[in-house]
Amino acid sequence: MLLTITTTHRPATDLGFLLHKNPARPQSFDLSFGRAHVVYPEAGDDRCTAALILDIDPVGLVRGRRGPAGEGGLLTQYVNDRPYVASSFLSVALSNVFASAMAGRSKERPELADASIPLEARLSVVPCRGGEVLLRRLFEPLGYAVTVTPHALDGRAPEWGTSRYFTLTLAGTQRLASLLTHLYVLVPVLDDEKHYWVGDDEVEKLLRHGEGWLAAHPDRALIARRYLKHRQSLVRDAIARLVSDEESEEDDSGAARDAEEHTLERPLSLHEQRLEIVRAVIRESGATNVLDLGCGEGRLLRRLLEERQFTRIVGMDVSYRSLEIAADRLKLDRMPAMQRERITLLHGSLVYRDDRLQGFDAAAVVEVIEHLDPPRLAAFERVAFEFARPRMVAVTTPNAEYNVVWPTLPAGQFRHRDHRFEWTRAEFEAWGSRVTERFGYVVRFAPVGPAQPDVGSPSQMAVFARKDTDV
Ligand code: SAH
Repeated sequence: MLLTITTTHRPATDLGFLLHKNPARPQSFDLSFGRAHVVYPEAGDDRCTAALILDIDPVGLVRGRRGPAGEGGLLTQYVNDRPYVASSFLSVALSNVFASAMAGRSKERPELADASIPLEARLSVVPCRGGEVLLRRLFEPLGYAVTVTPHALDGRAPEWGTSRYFTLTLAGTQRLASLLTHLYVLVPVLDDEKHYWVGDDEVEKLLRHGEGWLAAHPDRALIARRYLKHRQSLVRDAIARLVSDEESEEDDSGAARDAEEHTLERPLSLHEQRLEIVRAVIRESGATNVLDLGCGEGRLLRRLLEERQFTRIVGMDVSYRSLEIAADRLKLDRMPAMQRERITLLHGSLVYRDDRLQGFDAAAVVEVIEHLDPPRLAAFERVAFEFARPRMVAVTTPNAEYNVVWPTLPAGQFRHRDHRFEWTRAEFEAWGSRVTERFGYVVRFAPVGPAQPDVGSPSQMAVFARKDTDV
């Protein structure tokens, strides 16, 4: 794990006074998870760069040999990315190795510690759930010019696309203490993974390090949510304390966003209708084993379980958190063995070919496709219709024409902020027809929800049947 910090503020070697590390002398520090080294690859009057190298001991972390009591056995896999990427280990290292600099203190150059100077930080590898978009959303509002270089998943298989790893450069005129606290808070947020348990004092830490910038950050709620590992009570506490009184109503949590969509549609109980229709068409197809692709929190799975006809039910979602909620709601851990054997939850993405999806009679894809970027939608089509290739597939998506019935959409143009598109009936039908031609299916379309003149129903369904079957 490598972080470099460069300044061109003259004399640039003053960076050593700010960091309390002499450019002429490499230093090493013992940490609970390995060792940190500080060296200066360049130290001139015009330009000076300090490098923080973390040498993380992955085997020690797994065996629990390293780390204070209670923190042992941090990781369960010997092979993991932690030694190579910027993660919450970096935050711990920053607060240990550069404690005074983070607090904005410098014995020799106090005025420089208070000054904004040209700084550039480069993280050789950061994992980021949310990709370049999120990297920019988090750092640009803080005044950085952000440069992002994505890394391929596998250099030998470029068609697999990019990984969640990036090289990140942040350039801006900042106090060094601000740069360090931004990294301290935001690096674990990017990763959305933390190696230690989040306790109540994490809220204090977040607010302390976020002082002066977090409250005004447009993504403060996301930052709080991820930093506090989605522990709702802590997140609520943090947001309440970040937000001034007049705005305190706002809570941008993921649950709140989903609620937006559901509140909007509640008078129609539209989602219920969708799920009932999908349950019915799948039951009527005679399927005995069924996939729920993008199963979310398991609303359809619960209905499918009620049908004895289905002996094998598999839900898949890319969101691990949603699967946890589904497992909880379905009470999987308390289910009688016979029942438990009928259902499997899979963590996976619908845009990658996955052999676990093969051999099914039917698949449901309820309100999922509109969450996929257009190039990913093309990948999904192949995954579902070419590789998984169930006998029938029921797909639902919002009908964009109906949106005029709702005078104000909370998500702006769309019903949900994460929607990448919403289609008219003609657009959905055109897509469905292309799918049938390309993959050898036939399709019929049905409205979902009460229709209005001209604009149709709020939601729409396509039922695909493989040509070589007679569903
Ligand atoms: N079908 C569920 C959830 C719909 S919300 C229901 O009707 O209640 C959309 C779901 O699609 C979310 O749970 C989201 O995590 C999932 N999703 C989005 N992109 C995905 C992908 N590439 N692979 C698998 N699931 C995905």
